[in-house]
Amino acid sequence: MMNLPCAKDMKMKDIKKNIRSLFGRFFDFLYPPACVGCGVLLDDVGAFCPECLSEYEQEKQRNCPHCFRVLQACDCPTAEMRKRGAKHLYKVFPYHPTNREKKTNQLIYALKDMHLYHASKFVADEMYMSLLLGDVRLSDYVLTYIPASKTRMVKRGYNQMKMVAKCLGELGGCPIEVPLYRTREGTPQKSLPTSKRFENTKGIFSVKKSSSVAGKKYIIIDDIATSGATLMAAAATLREAGADRVIFATAALTIRTHI
Ligand SMILES: [Zn+2]
Ligand SMILES: [Zn+2]
Repeated sequence: MMNLPCAKDMKMKDIKKNIRSLFGRFFDFLYPPACVGCGVLLDDVGAFCPECLSEYEQEKQRNCPHCFRVLQACDCPTAEMRKRGAKHLYKVFPYHPTNREKKTNQLIYALKDMHLYHASKFVADEMYMSLLLGDVRLSDYVLTYIPASKTRMVKRGYNQMKMVAKCLGELGGCPIEVPLYRTREGTPQKSLPTSKRFENTKGIFSVKKSSSVAGKKYIIIDDIATSGATLMAAAATLREAGADRVIFATAALTIRTHI
């Protein structure tokens, strides 16, 4: 029989997805990476086939209303972050909360939901470029990422930024440290309006006893910045523990955010 029943197809898709989550890079080695936009097998490095890449490149071309540069060349924090003293948020492309068809969104889903190595590497390359455009010398910094909540870790089994950090650390020649842990779960930020997000993340992180933070410069990376509340809470904790400087880099910026 050539055609498998649909339900069986779905089951196999789910199994493959779970195996991908478990083995990440190893799975990409066994099964050639597919375009995160349309699913065709890729014979080149990257996350997209040529057609989807050209759509992605177009979607990326969005200017910051604050400095008028394209997002990848701009370091403006969100308005909420700026109000609270942040100076540098490097990002690559816009994130559209409701438009699943955008290639930029599909890249984020590949990172978040499937934990694909080639998507992580692509995102790391892109973030590296925006940091270079901002004249950030990565070797001066320690790279860190936001620790996932316990609920998220149980659900996904991984932190999607760990692999991105590894790839970015290799590119920039900087160490990766995760000195923070979550002190409580908190309400998922997604479900809250901007006004409540900063309150929700207040004191949500603490520094591990085994970590030394004083005098170090950090780049905190994450997949999406919306209000920037989680990033700011992490930065505040690092600064209280004596960090010398904290800047931010994300793959995407939610476009309903005012910048
Ligand atoms: Zn494609
Ligand atoms: Zn800007």
